[in-house]
Amino acid sequence: MLLELKKTMIYGPVNSRRLGRSLGINILPSEVKVCPFNCVYCQYGWTKIHTSQIIQDSELPSVQAIKDALEVALKTLSIPPAYITFSGNGEPTAHPDFGQITEEVTAIRHRLAPEAKTAVLSNSALVSHDSVLEALLKFDLRIMKLDCGHPKTFEKYNQPAKSIDLEAITAGLIELSRLRDVIIQTLVSSGQGGNLMEKNITEWIERLKRIKPLSVQLYTLDRPYPASDLKPASEQELNQLKDQAQKEGIAIEVF
Ligand code: SF4
Repeated sequence: MLLELKKTMIYGPVNSRRLGRSLGINILPSEVKVCPFNCVYCQYGWTKIHTSQIIQDSELPSVQAIKDALEVALKTLSIPPAYITFSGNGEPTAHPDFGQITEEVTAIRHRLAPEAKTAVLSNSALVSHDSVLEALLKFDLRIMKLDCGHPKTFEKYNQPAKSIDLEAITAGLIELSRLRDVIIQTLVSSGQGGNLMEKNITEWIERLKRIKPLSVQLYTLDRPYPASDLKPASEQELNQLKDQAQKEGIAIEVF
């Protein structure tokens, strides 16, 4: 069964494999996933609000509501989280006030949990928008998705909304990485609908060489997914891919 959407703006802290004790912030609606991608492996199922625009929607949580909820959560916790992490019901950078929310969350962190770091999990779809890029620079940690190197695999695997293109994403990630450290996250899957084809992997490595991320986090399916022609990559496939990337000078870790 697919996972339920987050019902609240603040959730956790959860024990994240990659971040440790992480307090999640969901700045998107609680009833529907909003995302410029429709990944075949999405734990929340198929995307209903599939948008390449930075969305304007009255159902979105307001800046004030997010600030209030975070303040209450941080004041209630007896141990501060290691990370305050933007994630949740889709792509956080699609919120039209993402920049302002980032600034407010950073200020609240300084005041109420100065030892906590801020992180964002993003699918990179909007990274080439100036306002999004500028806001991403304000986080302590940026974990940005790049699952595919070949445009055709990208179209099938991540199913981007119209006008989102892999070359613009790559250019945005190159610029982001030039200005601040970037970690790339890549989810690989086997099966006919997967992304482990040789041509896709070769081009994924070439894009990584241009982006020059601090490191790559590689992982496979471990949650429910909506597509029927996928299966988790084997340990051997993950390690082969890791070796192939390392030979090209890419720092990569399997999770
Ligand atoms: S980017 Fe994330 S939220 Fe959006 S469809 Fe893909 S897995 Fe789901």
